[in-house]
Amino acid sequence: MPTPQSPQLPTVNTVLTETLLEGIRSRAPGYDEANAFPYEDLTALREAGYLGALTPRAEGGLGWDFSTVVAAQRTLAMHSPATALAVNMHLVWNGVASVLSQQGDDSLAFVRRESAAGEVFAFGISEPGNDAVLFDSDTVAEPLPDGSYRFTGTKIFTSLSPVWTRLGIFGKTPDGGHLVFGFLDRSAPGWAADSSSWDMLGMRATHSHTTTLNGAMVPAERILRRTPAGPNADPLTFGVFASFLTFLAAVYTGIGDRAVELAVQRLGRRRSKTTGQPLAQDPVLRYKTAEASLRQLTMDAQLRSVAESIDAGAELGTEWFPRLVANKTQAVRTAKAQADFALEASGGASYHRQNELSRIYRDVMAGVFHPSDDESAHNTLASFMLGPVESE
Ligand SMILES: Cc1cc2nc3c(=O)[nH]c(=O)nc-3n(C[C@H](O)[C@H](O)[C@H](O)COP(=O)(O)OP(=O)(O)OC[C@H]3O[C@@H](n4cnc5c(N)ncnc54)[C@H](O)[C@@H]3O)c2cc1C
Repeated sequence: MPTPQSPQLPTVNTVLTETLLEGIRSRAPGYDEANAFPYEDLTALREAGYLGALTPRAEGGLGWDFSTVVAAQRTLAMHSPATALAVNMHLVWNGVASVLSQQGDDSLAFVRRESAAGEVFAFGISEPGNDAVLFDSDTVAEPLPDGSYRFTGTKIFTSLSPVWTRLGIFGKTPDGGHLVFGFLDRSAPGWAADSSSWDMLGMRATHSHTTTLNGAMVPAERILRRTPAGPNADPLTFGVFASFLTFLAAVYTGIGDRAVELAVQRLGRRRSKTTGQPLAQDPVLRYKTAEASLRQLTMDAQLRSVAESIDAGAELGTEWFPRLVANKTQAVRTAKAQADFALEASGGASYHRQNELSRIYRDVMAGVFHPSDDESAHNTLASFMLGPVESE
């Protein structure tokens, strides 16, 4: 397994160059203000080979592992949270392909190959009011005699809507027995994206539109799996959770990194009229900065350890889900706490609508909606500690 230090692999810094990152940062306020999709960012990332981050070198990719992608997504989120969250959805499917391949299942090799060739994979999983997330679906997956399926239903918050070329979706068979996962091609008939209600508080550049599937056909060779409906131990389910929760944690940790960085910069620049000294010398603000550092360093250790465990194929058994969920939950909580701290420490200037911290404050709120949300995370952790809720 390659490591982030492997000399033959491109490093994060050589792919996400300073010029590329500064371009992304400079465009972020404009995309947010105009509620526009970051086409230029996607083009720059594609040209840098970033879409093939998890594709082996021999297949034209960067050959990175989870730990390196986590480091890269963190860096990207420091420059544009929305662009990082959008491209995260593409990387999630590639992460699933990597986890499966680590277990000797190369059925998703085409995802990594096509990603390196510039195709964009999106994550069409969320459905309105479906708190069962991956274990149930209101979308109907109707089987056809040749092994293909027609999908009918509504997917919400499909990030990358304007550009995806492959949409990973799932639905339930009409008899209710199975969940079917497949990749819809953009050129297939029977689907539509509705951008009309896309006017969100934050993460505006993700353009996560509602996708309506109306008999959208996925051919047999693009059907990934049929799993039993309900909780199941299929490696695909593990792959989606491991990849989604870990890369998401990386994005929110990067948002926290940036909030603290901005706070520290401003504490160095702002001066107290009373003492004449920079606010960085104020004992209370020093204490608060130390608390922020404590949170960020703890998060850093947790995130790295989860990514390294995935890379190592660690045998964590029933601890896997609690660990993955705790990492995502803690990343979002930490990022929110850092945004709070940074706004307070930076003074009223950061309250201007176009100030970067003000945007971070809006963007970070999206974290509470992504699975596992706080209720679901607590259910997972309570069941891990106390066993399932007993019915009387
Ligand atoms: C910025 C952002 C990006 C995301 N990106 C992705 C992604 O790429 N892929 C993914 O699978 N999930 C994505 N999600 C979804 C997210 O992770 C959660 O699954 C989702 O927010 C949970 O929604 P809910 O059940 O709390 O919301 P709900 O309140 O149930 O619904 C939320 C959204 O669904 C719309 N909606 C509700 N009912 C209907 C209906 N009947 N018909 C049409 N629209 C309806 C609402 O207008 C609202 O926009 C994203 C979320 C955010 C905030």
